[in-house]
Amino acid sequence: MATSADFDLLATDGHARLGRIKASLNTPAVLLYTRRGFPPPLTPREVKSLYQSGASPSTFAFFMSAADFYDDPGSGVLSSFRGVREFCGLQDQKEMIVVGNKDAVNQQFGMPSSDTWVTLQTSAGQKKVANEDYIKLLSAMQPDIAVSLVDEVQMENSDKRIKKSVDRTLKWLDEYLAERKGGNVAESVTIFAAVVGGTSHRERERYARELAKREVGGYAFTGFGTGESEEEREAFVRMSLEHLDQHKPRMMSGLGSPDEILWSVKMGMDVLESAYPWFLSSQGLAISFPVSYEGIMKYADEEEMEAESSLMNGKINLWDTDYCKNTDPITKGCSCFACAKYSRAYIHHLLKTNEMLAEARPFFSVKHRMTSQQVFLSCHNQHCLLIFMESVRQSIADQSFEKFCTAFRKARKAPSRFLQG
Ligand SMILES: [Zn+2]
Repeated sequence: MATSADFDLLATDGHARLGRIKASLNTPAVLLYTRRGFPPPLTPREVKSLYQSGASPSTFAFFMSAADFYDDPGSGVLSSFRGVREFCGLQDQKEMIVVGNKDAVNQQFGMPSSDTWVTLQTSAGQKKVANEDYIKLLSAMQPDIAVSLVDEVQMENSDKRIKKSVDRTLKWLDEYLAERKGGNVAESVTIFAAVVGGTSHRERERYARELAKREVGGYAFTGFGTGESEEEREAFVRMSLEHLDQHKPRMMSGLGSPDEILWSVKMGMDVLESAYPWFLSSQGLAISFPVSYEGIMKYADEEEMEAESSLMNGKINLWDTDYCKNTDPITKGCSCFACAKYSRAYIHHLLKTNEMLAEARPFFSVKHRMTSQQVFLSCHNQHCLLIFMESVRQSIADQSFEKFCTAFRKARKAPSRFLQG
């Protein structure tokens, strides 16, 4: 099938695509949320435990936010190392590193920007970051893939503001490409152009036509998950896709739940930024829907059930006192490190005793302290998401992606006591 310099398209099923980026990352794949270089609260040892339970470096990548490195250590310190991989001690980790200017958890919409800078929330507070500084940081970080600086707009913004966002984002991309041509950015860093255009058909088309003329390695869709309906979202993505090079990889930001992942894959996205395991783990929640291909597909011909609770659809809350004597693992049949060793009762106990220490737990706060139960929950949730993505890829290879999506919708509603990994 078709191939570009950075992407091998191996098969399609409808608009869903099976591929490989830079000859190493099997797609569709998730980009795991990281903080200062690593998926919180895991250590390299726990990430390696994910491999032992079925994942591999070819099945996921790390998404790093430039905001985590802008103030401290800064491009000067990073330049003393061979990029962010060496700085973070990741030389032995084979996962691809993707860097962009947004943080999936600590997102703040409507931040001020101008023709030359955007506002980033860094460790030292809000900072105006000029494109030249962003390029300098990317040049020092040397990720495998870098997303161009984006002047983000929300769906509610006016056409005038959207036009400004398109003009700025395009200008900043051109500045990056000029720096690369001048030898100031390593050729090994593949640039994914941020795709913008808000709700404007005209601006989406204008921008996409301009992008199609430029030498970029892929496209990063941004600005979604800001209040648009699914129908609107689909229309906006299609407007842009219509004019872009179909042979280049596409990344989706801001949509990372399993339903959003399936929707994105259905739209033809190849990499999905996902902080979903982090969101769940930080609240004491664990994925309980089936994740294996066989486990999901057996629901394909089942009657659709009423969900026990729309909020707890496909996950369990280990804060629940019902689990205080439960000897089962988080999910029966799960092969992750946590399920192999620990019971629901023990994780419930850890959650409860940490709460009794009266630790402040601001919702999704960056100051949130990582504790042992979150390591267990995070191992489980990341493992489940990676196996789920393996199942998504298998469904495309088997030409059964639509059936898989239907089966998943039903499986997720099944009562959690029936579910197995
Ligand atoms: Zn598990």
